[in-house]
Amino acid sequence: MAIWDDIKTDNEIPDPFGGPRTSVAAQAKCPNCASNLIFDANLVKLACRNCGGVFVPDTLEETGNFKGRDTEAADKDDDRTEYVCDSCGAVVVTDNTTAASFCAFCGSPAIIKKRLTNEFRPDYIIPFKISKKEAIDIFWDWAKKNKYVPRNFINEDSLSKITGIYVPFWLIDAKCHTMVTGSGQSGAAVFVLDRQIDFATKMVPFDGSKKISNLLMEAVEPYDYEGMIPYKDVYLQGFYAQRFDESPLDMTDRIQSRMDAHARQMGKKLSIGEYDKVRINTADSYSGDYKQHYAMLPVWFLRYEYEGLKYTFVVNGQTGEPAGDLPYSPVKRVALVALEIAKWVGLGLAFTLLFIFVFVKALFIDVSGATVMLYYLSIFLSGFLGAGFSLIIRRIRKVKYDSMNPIDSAPEVENYLDLSEKIHMEKHDKFGYMKTTREADEDDNRNGLVKYMMKRSLRIR
Ligand SMILES: [Zn+2]
Ligand SMILES: [Zn+2]
Repeated sequence: MAIWDDIKTDNEIPDPFGGPRTSVAAQAKCPNCASNLIFDANLVKLACRNCGGVFVPDTLEETGNFKGRDTEAADKDDDRTEYVCDSCGAVVVTDNTTAASFCAFCGSPAIIKKRLTNEFRPDYIIPFKISKKEAIDIFWDWAKKNKYVPRNFINEDSLSKITGIYVPFWLIDAKCHTMVTGSGQSGAAVFVLDRQIDFATKMVPFDGSKKISNLLMEAVEPYDYEGMIPYKDVYLQGFYAQRFDESPLDMTDRIQSRMDAHARQMGKKLSIGEYDKVRINTADSYSGDYKQHYAMLPVWFLRYEYEGLKYTFVVNGQTGEPAGDLPYSPVKRVALVALEIAKWVGLGLAFTLLFIFVFVKALFIDVSGATVMLYYLSIFLSGFLGAGFSLIIRRIRKVKYDSMNPIDSAPEVENYLDLSEKIHMEKHDKFGYMKTTREADEDDNRNGLVKYMMKRSLRIR
């Protein structure tokens, strides 16, 4: 408990980007190396910057290690070369037979060849399976799917600069614990969920490169770890490897938020089969027993410019999964939105005319009958126009969304579950209450204007 008190009161380091995240626990020293321990608010653990040890605050029991790598100086007769970009500072490593003439990250030709300064020794590598030509074909197929791309947005010369890069990844193993609360519905019976779940994840990937967007790297996951082998220099030939410039201790916010997401997904997956409907309200989670593996994963990487803006495209060098951003043509977008509106307005007009025609016809046959008919038809028409209007809005939104080129989110927890560890669940679900039919009715009523309109016209009839 004493350690906790120290953490809370001692030298808070203000974070320039928001609330306080780390603070120095003045009294707590690393049991391994006697350096000062730092409290990591994301992991809720104490961490040692020197040896990478991660400790439980109360007991100082070690619960994993996030040690950095590549600290020793390289051998003099090393057969690898480093290239440093003079304009953006990127550093890549390759073998002596592979030469670089431009920087893949910023396009600058001002790159300096250097002898390897520090050791470069990842644990694992997944060698490239996708060739440069295949990567370019994948780019065209992927770009063609987006209807809003301007014509001639990229030339052959820019495209030929697509570069094979081994991106540094930290693959992190962890044991996770999560508390799930919420509600589950079976027929009209509502149950209160109360569960504790323990599970282990294995080799969850986090890229250690500041030069490549984390979102893009998550979008081209997963890699097939079956193809992963111990690192050997020979795989560098013709490719470039980046050294990590972020260690796991620099990205505990990312690690914790992904562990949280995994916990929520587990909570959902383990309760969803038991009820018709599940709502997970909160899922407090924490993780520990960290292990890390330092791996080089293959990525084809392209950065190009269009009308003064930079765009990035990446392809998973093992599976061929593409992701990236694309320029869009505002003219094409406006045209497609206009077409969409015209289509629906035209349909609406046709219905209105039909309505007037039917009404006038009826008027000649029977005036009172026509008035009743007018009443029903106008209800129907107002419902139809309302529904049509919401459809137009929805279609326009879709056009807007498509032209923004959405990026996949990271794959879910089942890709990284450690199945050699048991999943343990403690269940204390309790019966809550019975739903009245009206409540159940309202539950189904959340599907927007169209359903509402249809329902209303049905009820009046
Ligand atoms: Zn230490
Ligand atoms: Zn550069």
